Amino acid sequence: MKQLEGKIAVVTGASRGIGRGIALELAACGADIAMLDLSDGDAAKATLADLRALGVRAEIYRCDVSKNDTVTEAAAAVLRDFGRVDILVNNAGVTRDKLMIALTEEDFDFVTDINLKGTFLVTKAFLRPFMRQKYGRIINISSVVGLSGNPGQANYVASKAGVIGLTKTIAKEYAARGITCNAIAPGFISTDMTDAMPADAREAMLKTIPAARPGTVADIAHTAAFLASDHAAYITGEVIRVDGGLAM
Ligand code: NAP
Repeated sequence: MKQLEGKIAVVTGASRGIGRGIALELAACGADIAMLDLSDGDAAKATLADLRALGVRAEIYRCDVSKNDTVTEAAAAVLRDFGRVDILVNNAGVTRDKLMIALTEEDFDFVTDINLKGTFLVTKAFLRPFMRQKYGRIINISSVVGLSGNPGQANYVASKAGVIGLTKTIAKEYAARGITCNAIAPGFISTDMTDAMPADAREAMLKTIPAARPGTVADIAHTAAFLASDHAAYITGEVIRVDGGLAM
């Protein structure tokens, strides 16, 4: 039997990048997947088809994680269709990088609303069912810059540091109810998000990684699958850096 067979996982922002990689890895471990995605466009449909090809049940639910009405609607639909949820991966995230001096209130709100408030809203939407069933695995995707700070990313860093605080608080509040909550702090992972960086910033960042290579989506996905599994039942409130030593 595969290690996540019979489990149902929700992954936000599963259409592309790290979210897609996590959804595919959880499915390869046997979990059924509910994708919570901004759109059901080509990228989301391609991921959906790849998930189904692994032989699991998979569906897309359109949802902007920063908007409570769409989150509660999507969560209700997932619970109606799948009957329960065991694993939640809060992965959806965005950047809007500028030096602090140029950062507007709108830039700050846009990024924190999706990365931090989105993590809060989606977690809250599944918390009661997790409490009732006395089981839940919450995995929040933070970032190493949430630990270290990073010039040009005050809004993003604040959101990712906030996710770490939220993770530890949820872990403490619900550990006795069979719910674990952990964060993964990826370093520099090759996805559309990092491809969008200016080439000189990319090169400079790569030179600082002790492992001397960018991380892959699979590096993050394997960690998420471990945290979702029963092998990680006694790990909660942890932040696991998956960064090739970047933030050591
Ligand atoms: P990505 O390739 O840009 O993918 C982001 C995903 O989030 C997409 O599926 C996107 O949907 C979705 N999304 C964006 N806004 C959303 C919203 N309001 N509601 C629902 N979904 C939304 O990014 P990535 O590199 O895979 O990053 C995934 C996570 O890892 C993020 O939280 C990011 O901060 C974190 N992270 C990444 C790195 C890295 O090096 N790549 C490092 C540290 C942390 P659409 O396809 O519809 O736009």
